[in-house]
Amino acid sequence: MDFQLSDEQLQLKKMVREFAEREIAPNVMKWDEASEFPMATVKELGKLGLLGVIFPAEYGGSGMGYIEYVTAIEELSRVDGSVGIIVAAHTSLGSNHIFIAGNEEQKRKYIPRLATGEFIGAWGLTEPGSGSDAGGARCSAVRRGKNWVLNGTKTFITNGHYADVAVVVAVTDKTAHTHGLSAFVVEKGTRGFRAGKKENKLGLRASDTSELIFEDCEIPGENLLGKEGDGFIDAMRVLDGGRISIAALGLGMAQGAYEAAVKYAKQRKQFGRAISEFQAIGFKLADMATEIDAARLLTMRAAAMKDAGMKTTQESSMAKLYTSEVAVRCANECVQIHGGYGFIKDYPAEKFYRDVKLCTIGEGTSEIQRLVIARQVLKD
Ligand SMILES: Cc1cc2nc3c(=O)[nH]c(=O)nc-3n(C[C@H](O)[C@H](O)[C@H](O)COP(=O)(O)OP(=O)(O)OC[C@H]3O[C@@H](n4cnc5c(N)ncnc54)[C@H](O)[C@@H]3O)c2cc1C
Repeated sequence: MDFQLSDEQLQLKKMVREFAEREIAPNVMKWDEASEFPMATVKELGKLGLLGVIFPAEYGGSGMGYIEYVTAIEELSRVDGSVGIIVAAHTSLGSNHIFIAGNEEQKRKYIPRLATGEFIGAWGLTEPGSGSDAGGARCSAVRRGKNWVLNGTKTFITNGHYADVAVVVAVTDKTAHTHGLSAFVVEKGTRGFRAGKKENKLGLRASDTSELIFEDCEIPGENLLGKEGDGFIDAMRVLDGGRISIAALGLGMAQGAYEAAVKYAKQRKQFGRAISEFQAIGFKLADMATEIDAARLLTMRAAAMKDAGMKTTQESSMAKLYTSEVAVRCANECVQIHGGYGFIKDYPAEKFYRDVKLCTIGEGTSEIQRLVIARQVLKD
């Protein structure tokens, strides 16, 4: 068992960290307060190969794996979770659904453009009436000659307004429940397809979360992704990878909050000494450091298994569950260690506190992760 990143992986980590500190850090609060989608930065990430880390070079990707993907998302999220979730939804949800379920023609058509940032991707599973119960989707796809006609609304879709390509799961057979769902690729500009309400959020405000609305949206038959009826099963496969990226998102924000807390605890003096010298504060930092390490190990294990081609349903959920809960605890302690200054926007603590909460909700809530894990451990 090797707990070290390779020289190439360390190089990648350094490159992403330097990019994040140079290009993202100075803008974080401006983007957050204006809910401004950092389009220019996202395009730069595409040029650096960071929008296609997990895809092979022959499809325009960087030809790396989930270890590198986790490393990149962690480093981006350490500085700004909004950028982390934009990259995560684009890569391991939208793009990866096309990569794992698409035919050769679909992969050749979309993956190179997505991996380089020419296209931005989104993934639409959630609907107003179906979140945790994704199988209860109502958005429909009905055949019209060789085409499909989509009707319905997807909600809370990351990158919704900016997506050039969206993967959408819709009902093709009402009687077959989860086996009656199919996935489709829909391109921006298709008649009958538009982004709807842009959500005004608690955190991750520079990321875009929007409705996708389909009104008699007619798409060619070849836009069906994977087999008819396999949309739900494929979506669950997509989530096995996606949940690793939410773990990485939480890990990065937990790390950022921890570093901010250490820095502040060493600087802030009360009762004639640095507050880091009080055992109560030292113990908080010790717990944060320990839990972050454990979260990183779980996340990297899931990533390493994914890279080895193994099934990771249980490990992805464990990493996602634990890391997101650790991130929430770390951000909370970060605010506490900052005292009153943790509550104001001159310090990064309050933003981590707002941003991390998404991790216990997106791509399956903590309760749903526990259901998935329980189902796996009780299987044998
Ligand atoms: C910022 C943001 C970005 C998102 N991005 C995307 C995206 O890109 N694509 C996409 O498709 N979706 C996206 N989502 C949607 C997200 O995945 C859902 O919000 C999430 O799965 C929860 O669904 P829900 O909001 O409908 O909550 P509900 O399912 O209504 O859950 C409400 C509460 O009930 C609990 N609950 C539900 N069922 C059970 C059960 N069986 N047992 C125990 N407890 C249960 C939940 O854990 C939760 O606490 C995003 C959400 C947000 C907030």
